[in-house]
Amino acid sequence: MQDIRHIRENAELYQWTAEAKGIELSISRLLEMDVRRRGLMQEIDQLRYARNRASEQIGALMAQGEKDEAARIKADVKWNNETLAHLESQQAEVESAFSELMQLVPNPVSPDTPPGLSDKDNVEVKRVGEPPVFDFDPRDHVTLDELHGMIDILRGVKIAGARNYVLKGAGFHLHRAVQQLAMGVLEERGYTPMDVPMLVRENALVSSGYLPLGRDQIYAIKEEDRYLVGTSEVSLVAYYGDEIVDVREPIRLSAQTACFRSEIGSAGRDVRGLYRVHQFSKVEQVVLCRADPEESESLLQELTRNAEKILQLLELPYRVVAVCTGDMSQKTHKQFDIETWMPSRQDYGETHSSSNVRDFQARRANIRYRDENGKLQYCYTLNNTAVATPRILIPLLENHQRADGSIYIPEALRPYMKGISAIEVG
Ligand code: AMP
Repeated sequence: MQDIRHIRENAELYQWTAEAKGIELSISRLLEMDVRRRGLMQEIDQLRYARNRASEQIGALMAQGEKDEAARIKADVKWNNETLAHLESQQAEVESAFSELMQLVPNPVSPDTPPGLSDKDNVEVKRVGEPPVFDFDPRDHVTLDELHGMIDILRGVKIAGARNYVLKGAGFHLHRAVQQLAMGVLEERGYTPMDVPMLVRENALVSSGYLPLGRDQIYAIKEEDRYLVGTSEVSLVAYYGDEIVDVREPIRLSAQTACFRSEIGSAGRDVRGLYRVHQFSKVEQVVLCRADPEESESLLQELTRNAEKILQLLELPYRVVAVCTGDMSQKTHKQFDIETWMPSRQDYGETHSSSNVRDFQARRANIRYRDENGKLQYCYTLNNTAVATPRILIPLLENHQRADGSIYIPEALRPYMKGISAIEVG
């Protein structure tokens, strides 16, 4: 939860951020609840104090044999208890309304975040590599997949419904190879590889900022009060929930999991092929560090560089964009997306999202550390995709295709592809 003192002092900033991020929230209503809950707390404390004093008085009066006076005070206590019970039930209601509103409060964005309403307003900050120029009619990834028998969308849909697929043979190997490559790059760079739960409790989603907003994107196993994660960031952040951690050196984590998304709201968008599916695999990077804006900014650059390194090893052209306010989620303070060139789209398509969420998640997850003065502080957390597949197979297949339909395999992937330098036709 954001710091209520900061919200009180910066109400306009929070209201503006909520509107810019498209979150329905009235900060004045939240502050009204805050005033009411504090008022109630004060009244309740006073009544509890009076009740305790009265009990002591009754004891003393009884000991002195002053039964009438003791009975008069007892009557006061009875009235006091009734009022107290009434106020306590009011307090429970107000507290619950207050905490529901607090869960919707967005993280303010960095001053250098571009203004804007949607991804169209994101600002390109860097372009690396050139989109290929083909001297033949290039195929799209679905055609290439089919040519090589790497994909079976029909049977994927038969098994699991729309936006599902089956990867086979070379398709399976490529899907696994990009993840192995990404995990290897991260481990070399000091990220602890982890295998984490994909089926989590509600609290893990609340503390990482995916609930309550985002509920419609998440698959729930209702009977068990458990949820399928849309990203392993959820488990990596919740891993340290309610703990005091040592972040003298940033904690660098990575995980490779399946991710599940309902994609409600994407009806009719990206329906062909592997761009937008319900189940995909992702290698994720998460960092926890001190509450130091400079350190977290340099880690955001590090997370982005890690992803860029993987794209460079995959020999793919990409660009980095600074994400605008309207394209940011509730939790994000600053974000870069990486978009990779996809020939069939004749455009760059989003393949990575690198975010600094500052103390937004650590407050909700209650992850703290002791600073140089021994004072407990909330950590900062950051995350980025290292690679997400099968989406990355789109640029991989389409950029590396040759006239005869064969597909060039970048050198860095070959150790995971039985050493082959190309997927040949037939
Ligand atoms: P996000 O966690 O939403 O920032 O997504 C991180 C990355 O996961 C995206 O850049 C995509 O590469 C991939 N991704 C997200 N949603 C999907 C989806 N529905 N289907 C396939 N890949 C996805």
